[in-house]
Amino acid sequence: MKIDEVEVRLVRLPYRSPFKTSFAEETEKHATIVTVRSEGVEGYGEGVMDPFPNYREETIAGAHHLLLHAFGPDLVANGCEHPSELTARWARWRGNPMAKTALELAVWDCYARQQGVPLRTLLGGELTEIPVGASLGMNTVEKTVESVSQHVEQGYKRVKLKIEPGWDVELLAAVRAVHPHIELTVDANSAYTLDMLPLLRQIDEFGLHYIEQPLHWDDLTEHAVLAKELRTEICLDETLTSPARVKAALDLGACTVVNVKVGRVGGLQSVREIHDLCVARNVPMWCGGMLETGIGRAHNIHLATMPGFVFPGDTASASRTYARDLVEQQLETTDGIMPVPEGPGIGVTLDRPFLEQVTESREVVR
Ligand SMILES: [Mg+2]
Repeated sequence: MKIDEVEVRLVRLPYRSPFKTSFAEETEKHATIVTVRSEGVEGYGEGVMDPFPNYREETIAGAHHLLLHAFGPDLVANGCEHPSELTARWARWRGNPMAKTALELAVWDCYARQQGVPLRTLLGGELTEIPVGASLGMNTVEKTVESVSQHVEQGYKRVKLKIEPGWDVELLAAVRAVHPHIELTVDANSAYTLDMLPLLRQIDEFGLHYIEQPLHWDDLTEHAVLAKELRTEICLDETLTSPARVKAALDLGACTVVNVKVGRVGGLQSVREIHDLCVARNVPMWCGGMLETGIGRAHNIHLATMPGFVFPGDTASASRTYARDLVEQQLETTDGIMPVPEGPGIGVTLDRPFLEQVTESREVVR
């Protein structure tokens, strides 16, 4: 592919309601939207960096610099034969998986559109719809139980609650009292330490499908210790930053369930490698979410059609998060099932007037 230009936009998109986790409360999405233009065809990618490093280390400012001064110029200068080669080519710049992913996704989308096939076809995904779960931010116990009931009624296949010490046992008891048998999971976003084992044992009693990232955001070894102490399966999120990291986690027994976020692991080529590893070892995967706009959400839906994604992911209806999205298609679930946007590439078109309205800055590498 000859790449004519790379456009990087910073956008701000208001959330319908604030989203609270154990590390932050956010009221609007700061998204990095990357467009690749190649011989009259456009492809879109989205970066999931935040303004501050609350989730992993990357920031929007750092990624913006690398997109405009490293990855973007390299792509425009050298083009590429196939999007799968970019991860290895950009390995000379260490780390920064989210920044690399924002551009790599745009190239995959552009390539699929040029080939006239849906992105999922390039990834070996045969599903035309995927089961999804919902992730609920922190609220009062009463409101959380009510929200769980609403999502169960809407047919979501799994409900995930954000927890932290002091916001866990009481909450889970209240939810389980009303919904003893639903597929329920929790995400601690690294809010616990190994010396809180007695508390973690209490959480272990609620028949959870798995517990996500209970310990430090970069830890493997203590998770391996904890895994031996709990019946509940451990799923890692923050810690898994590359195919090598996933392999290390599985080798150590640090997790038995894998959350895949394409931005965290460095792009779709990395997702393919992790997918093949997990399938070979019979490890269930699911697709995590970062409250993406329709561009990132569409990418997530396509990658979650790969056969190793056996648990429902976080790719819920866009309207739960945004009153108006950046894409024209409504990415909405019915009865907990999300249709895959069809057509070439990720199958969505931009709501260009709205994109202009929410764009804070736009820069182009030619
Ligand atoms: Mg998580």
